[in-house]
Order: sequence, then structure tokens, then C-alpha cells
Amino acid sequence: YLQEYFGYESFRKGQEQIIEQVLGGINTAGIMPTGGGKSICYQIPALLLPGVTLVISPLISLMKDQVDALEQNGIDATFLNSSISGLESSNRMNDIKHGRYKLVYVAPERLENPAFQQDLFNVEISMVAIDEAHCISQWGHDFRPSYLKIKTLLKNMPSAPTVLALTATATPHVTDDICQSLGISVQHTVSTGFSRDNLFFSVVKEENRSRFLMRYLEKNKNESGIIYAATRKEVDSLYAKLIKAGFKTGRYHAGMNEKERSEQQDQFIRDDVPLMVATSAFGMGIDKSNVRYVIHYQTPKNMESYYQEAGRAGRDGLESECILLYSPQDMQIQRFLIDQSNPSQEWQSQELKKLNRMKDYCFTEGCLQAFILRYFGEENPEDCGHCENCTDKRDSVDVTTQAQMVLSCMLRMGERFGKTMISQVLTGSRN
Ligand code: ADP
Repeated sequence: YLQEYFGYESFRKGQEQIIEQVLGGINTAGIMPTGGGKSICYQIPALLLPGVTLVISPLISLMKDQVDALEQNGIDATFLNSSISGLESSNRMNDIKHGRYKLVYVAPERLENPAFQQDLFNVEISMVAIDEAHCISQWGHDFRPSYLKIKTLLKNMPSAPTVLALTATATPHVTDDICQSLGISVQHTVSTGFSRDNLFFSVVKEENRSRFLMRYLEKNKNESGIIYAATRKEVDSLYAKLIKAGFKTGRYHAGMNEKERSEQQDQFIRDDVPLMVATSAFGMGIDKSNVRYVIHYQTPKNMESYYQEAGRAGRDGLESECILLYSPQDMQIQRFLIDQSNPSQEWQSQELKKLNRMKDYCFTEGCLQAFILRYFGEENPEDCGHCENCTDKRDSVDVTTQAQMVLSCMLRMGERFGKTMISQVLTGSRN
């Protein structure tokens, strides 16, 4: 089937094992990096199993493309989401009940409708695949309340389907959550590791970021890249600045209307516009292979978001850069947002911890890729050998005594002065 329907010679890492487990009726969690080839893991079993495979995915804007691609490969598939009318929906449901499709994609919001769940009980569903499965965990970076309905759905389904949960970003805590919610034994998790060897990570700290960005874009004019900014306002102002400087740029954030957004996205995917400035609303599930760099103009709120966004670079396996522009103000803004956002103390303290890890990433002197892998639970990952820190040629100098002198001076001055005054005192200024 891999060759016949999809035209691939061999499986990628993890695919075969996941498919074998699922075909053997074992509930499975698959953790593979972005671009690792998760779709095949449910598409091939869907062809081999009787009845229908239900695919739950939050990526509504991509469902049509996914279904079109399957149809082109000769696989009967359809989707149900808010983009189609009620009438069309019930027609499709009818066809589903009559066994016209092997794969049915649904948005998680559908599951909140009891009538819809009831309808599904009359369909022979052999397998339920849950894409972006980290959305089920409140500790994930993208929790979706409607994902919690999946549990009820599975419990009530007369056909007792096999479950396959898929994600690219799950800390051990989130993996536990996924397994527990969906009835998967932790030993049936297949993880191919999170490492992306073609990504070159770096953190820019002590430079004016606007100047850095302009210089970088000038040097990489013909390459495709994404710039992530934290707010809509920031996206708009960067966009204006880049257009004025003569860069062909797209723009994307949740404040634009649906039509504008999909136009901008299409232009970027078709390579009409090489550059995209966006908030984190952009990019989920986008299969654009030749993104050569992802720049974070502001520090994101946690490592999960960072790695998922940065991971959109280099899906084709060619060398690509992931650059984070750090500034202390970003930390203050993120802290403020956490304070504002959720009344639960436990949630806030969890988010603050994650933010601090993000900051640790910006200041680590060790391998950046290895830091990320450890964050996602890998033990003793090897240094990548090509990130900013691995290639740092500076000599280290012992400045312990000097640091002690600075701290001692700060203390003796009553901890009431800023760095200018402290350095004046330390250097014996007559000021
Ligand atoms: P993910 O969902 O894990 O990000 P996809 O399922 O979209 O990844 O697959 C990423 C790309 O890899 C797609 O273009 C897909 O066609 C390709 N791909 C998947 N499996 C294989 C394989 N065994 N051999 C070659 N290419 C593959």
C-alpha cells in the first residue's frame, strides 16, 4: 500500500511499528517530529481495516487539502467541519453510514453535539486517530476543551475502535495525560525522538533586534522564512516596516478575516511571497517544505510553542536556521499575560515554570538542541555540533573574583543602585 497508494519506497522511522501495533488492535501513541510522516500511520491502517477510520483534527483549514490528496491517490475520504452547510453535512453522514468512505476527518467541536455522537454509533468505526493529541492535555500548550469529549465518545462506541494518538510535541507529563485519557498503555508509546538534525539553533541577545532582522533578511533575500511576533500589533508594525524596506512579505494573525488569511497563507505556500510575518496563529499543520529559517522576534511563552513553531523550518531535510531574538521585556510581557489569563493558581505556577525554562534556554551555554531534547524527556541527548553554542569559539575565562567584587559592591551600596553607578564606583570614578 505504501508504494501503491502513496508512492514511497520504504517506511520512515516509527511508521511501521505504529502501523503494526494498530493493526494488531493495540491502542497506540505515536510521537514523531513535525514532518516525520504521521499521516501515513493512520492512512494505511484505514485501508486495511474494515469500516471507517475517524480522524479527529483541529486543523480545519487543512482538511479539504488532506481529503483532496487522498482522493487523488484513489482513497475514499471526506470531512465534516464548520466550513460545510448543515445539508451537506447530513448528506455526507448518510454516505458515511452507507460505507462510502474509508477515512472521515472531523473537527473536535463536532463531538460536542450529542446527535452527532449518536450518528456515529451507527457506523462501523474500526479506528479513531487523534491528530495533535497534545490538545487533550491541560498541561499541553494548546489545550482544547472539546478534545475532552473524545474520551466519552470512545467509551460509548459500540464498535470499540482501536485508538491512535499522534503528536509532535509532548513532554513526558503530556504523554502520560494523553495515554491516560485515551486508554493507551504507556509501553505502547512509539517515540522516534524529537531531534531535527538539519536545524541550526541560535539565540540573539545583545543586539538591536530590528537591526539584526533587517541585516539577516537582506542576506537571505531569496529564501523562504517565517517571522513570529507575539502580538497582532507587533505583526502589523513589522509587516509595514518590511514592506517599506522593499521585502515581499505576507502577514497573518487572528485579527484578519478568514479570506485575507487564507489568501496570505496560499501566497506563502505557493512561494509567491517568500516571507511571512505572523503570530502563533499561523502555521499549524502547514506542509511547506522549503522554509529555510524561522525567526522569533519575541520570546515565546514556553518551549513547546517554540519548538513547534521553529520546527516548521526545514521539513525537506535541508539545513535551516531557527533564531530566537531574546529581550528581557518579553519575559515581563509573558509574565503579565500569565497573571491575567487564568484564575487557577496551579495553572499559573505551571506556566511560570515553563516560562522560566524558556529563559533558561536563552541563557544556556550548552547545546541548544540537546536542551530541547532534555526538555521533552530524552535522557543524555548528544550535542548537535552545529548550534550557536556548539560552534562557539570564544575562550572561557575565569571571572569569579571579579564577579564577587561586583556583587560585594552592590551589597555594600545597599542594593539601591543600577549598573551605571555600580560600575562607576568599581572603576573609581571621581563623579
Ligand atoms: P507530520 O504530520 O508528521 O508533520 P506528514 O504526515 O504531513 O508529517 O508527512 C510529512 C511529509 O513526509 C509529507 O510530504 C509526506 O508525504 C512525506 N512522507 C511520509 N511518509 C513518508 C515515507 N515513508 N517516505 C517518504 N515520504 C514520506
